[in-house]
Amino acid sequence: MTTTQARHDALGEATLGELAQALRGELVRPEDPSYDEARSIWNAAHDKKPALIVRCRGVADVLRGVEFARSEGLSLAVRGGGHSIPGFSTCDGGLVLDLSPMNGVRVDPNRRRLVAQAGCLWQDVDAEAQAFGLALTGGLVSTTGIAGFTLGGGISWLVRRCGLTCDNLIGADVVTGDGQYLHASEDEHPDLFWALRGGGGNFGVVTSFEFRAHEVGPTVFAGIVFYRGEEAAQVLQGFREAAAGAPDELSLAINLTTAPPLPFLPEEVHGKPIVAVLGVWSGRAEDGDVATRPFRGLAPVVTDLFGPMPYAAMQTLLDPLYPRGMWNYFRSAFFADLGDATADALVSAYSRAPNAVSELHIHHLGGAMGRIPADATAFGTRDREYILNVVARTPGADGFDGVVEWARSTCAALGPDAASYVNFTGEASQDRVRASYPPATYARLVAVKDRYDPTNLFRLNQNIAPSAASARQS
Ligand SMILES: Cc1cc2nc3c(=O)[nH]c(=O)nc-3n(C[C@H](O)[C@H](O)[C@H](O)COP(=O)(O)OP(=O)(O)OC[C@H]3O[C@@H](n4cnc5c(N)ncnc54)[C@H](O)[C@@H]3O)c2cc1C
Repeated sequence: MTTTQARHDALGEATLGELAQALRGELVRPEDPSYDEARSIWNAAHDKKPALIVRCRGVADVLRGVEFARSEGLSLAVRGGGHSIPGFSTCDGGLVLDLSPMNGVRVDPNRRRLVAQAGCLWQDVDAEAQAFGLALTGGLVSTTGIAGFTLGGGISWLVRRCGLTCDNLIGADVVTGDGQYLHASEDEHPDLFWALRGGGGNFGVVTSFEFRAHEVGPTVFAGIVFYRGEEAAQVLQGFREAAAGAPDELSLAINLTTAPPLPFLPEEVHGKPIVAVLGVWSGRAEDGDVATRPFRGLAPVVTDLFGPMPYAAMQTLLDPLYPRGMWNYFRSAFFADLGDATADALVSAYSRAPNAVSELHIHHLGGAMGRIPADATAFGTRDREYILNVVARTPGADGFDGVVEWARSTCAALGPDAASYVNFTGEASQDRVRASYPPATYARLVAVKDRYDPTNLFRLNQNIAPSAASARQS
């Protein structure tokens, strides 16, 4: 008998029946036909078997699920969009609180506010906001959940104009481990509100988010320009120079990758190294050609797909490239500039890319994100112009250890102490969590954790251990 089955059976039919009766949503158990689909997450490297999955339809279900996990001593995994790279939104033998049925969105176009339930994906929010010519600073892949994304920070195509997603959070409703239902904002529980903006899922279950929205589109000037892989060094150098004068309305990224066999790329480059520079100009669409031009001639161009397009189309453009079901590991490092040493390290790592689907994403930051004081939110690394996200993938288990090693060594080459970003981190080791926060931010996060989750019920995350747990470990 598996641990999962044993844990499930130990709960007893009567207890489980009572829980199922009390829920508005569904209780999924290992014997149910929907169990395998319900337990799966985006990253197939984490094939776990929870004892129970509670599909929440509202706050009442969240309260019941949290209380059940606490009273029965079950591990508790909280799931929004299920895109956690380290697999935190599932667990073996515990309870998964799946918020995906909670996907309502309400837009207030006059006040440019948007309230979204925590099970929303970016495609839900983008569709509702764009109906009013508004947008949040939301994910580059529309199937990503807003919850984990926002709580960890949120880097988007509007990051330089509008800041991180968490910078646009106005308030959140939260169920804490002891069953309280709180509203966190600048005026209510401000310590919790500070921690929710970068501190991840450590403090409770967020049931809904209120955001500030921005006027964007519906037409923006956006797209991708491709250069041959052998031009990578020249592209990085040119990008550095062009980026120095880039306006805030322009958010770009560089992807050092392998050309997929897509019709808009000439056949002779298919399967060969290719450099993509991609992003969004969200100022007046008619100014986009001029604003993006410095980045569209960094080397001989293979294909230039920049042009006016619906913001909504750009938000789904990359979806087919990042499907569910592959084995994934991400590793990240912030860095100050694209100087020669950094560019050399990136080009060298690129030349050692272990397969066609493992790639280096370099996001240009700064702008509005960089002007927010580092202590204003728990997302404390704001003084670096760039972040590297190493996306290491394999179709299955074969070769996965090798790509993980490549990702680790690539980041180590940028400096062993480089700060990292919790949402772009494929593991949960204490040194990675600490590397994600300046020391003063980390200490403040521990204080908030002590106040709102002293028993560490919410520990399946980039965990901020409460003082009591740290004391026990030492
Ligand atoms: C294909 C892909 C594209 C991505 N693109 C970007 C990008 O453009 N920019 C960027 O910044 N990041 C990006 N990421 C990283 C992404 O921000 C994180 O993976 C994030 O955790 C995903 O959120 P989720 O709700 O989908 O994940 P989940 O797996 O559902 O949740 C992740 C973790 O967040 C916490 N959590 C989730 N919901 C709640 C809740 N309601 N209350 C409290 N805690 C909760 C839990 O700790 C949970 O384990 C991307 C990831 C993927 C896989």
